[in-house]
Amino acid sequence: MIYQKRPAFRAVVFLLLLSAIFSLGGCYTEKERPAYLPIPGEETSTEETVTEEPKPTKRVALTYDDGPNHYDDRTKKIVDELDKYGYHATFFVVGNRIAGGDSVSYAVEKGNEIGIHGYTHTVYYDECTEDDFRYELNMTEQAIQKQVPGYQVNLMRPVGGKITGHRVETCPYSVILWSVDSEDWDTANRYYTGISDEEADARINNIVENIMSSLSDGDIILMHDIYESTYDATKILLARLYAEGYDVVTVSELFGDGLAKGKIYYSADT
Ligand SMILES: [Zn+2]
Repeated sequence: MIYQKRPAFRAVVFLLLLSAIFSLGGCYTEKERPAYLPIPGEETSTEETVTEEPKPTKRVALTYDDGPNHYDDRTKKIVDELDKYGYHATFFVVGNRIAGGDSVSYAVEKGNEIGIHGYTHTVYYDECTEDDFRYELNMTEQAIQKQVPGYQVNLMRPVGGKITGHRVETCPYSVILWSVDSEDWDTANRYYTGISDEEADARINNIVENIMSSLSDGDIILMHDIYESTYDATKILLARLYAEGYDVVTVSELFGDGLAKGKIYYSADT
């Protein structure tokens, strides 16, 4: 017979028979039965539940203005939360706040993007002089370069979202506004001082709902990494975004090759 020449085949048949006997549970009394064997008559399923990670089908850009925040490491904590999901955000930084710590280099190390907001955060680009406009941009660029030498800055978000058409056209960066406002800057949402736990929770949920209620593929979300409630809202927001199949990418990643200097963008509008 053919299988007599194939001892490996016989061994397989023997093992199959052995496993069939064991799976019937007939070799054990109730007391001896190993814990891993099913109890006869008890409903068991041999099918393993396969849980696949949700595949992101929508992409949005989370952006944080006015930082970095060093005194309680809020910026770094937000970076760490993003990192848990493999998400990346864009931080539009205030130049004179950069040297107070290493938050900017930390954010870059973790794959996040840095853009320019302003150097003092006191100058609006729709009403300042040309010299002041250039000073705000150049000083912030230098502060970024000092902490992350050679970093390629591509983006600028004007303070208050205010800028003239001429300044947009002459800007050496892409000008990035937003399509979804979290309103974390609103006084009703910023801090917890003097309020109950319930009110604090309401503020956090308010920020998250402001975003999720209108969010869609290609949106740019406005937040601020300087407020107490923004960090807590970020934690809830990231879990929601992940559960709903969103990928969170930098502004440059959201647009791919579609960004140009001297142009203004509100969303990827896909
Ligand atoms: Zn700002």
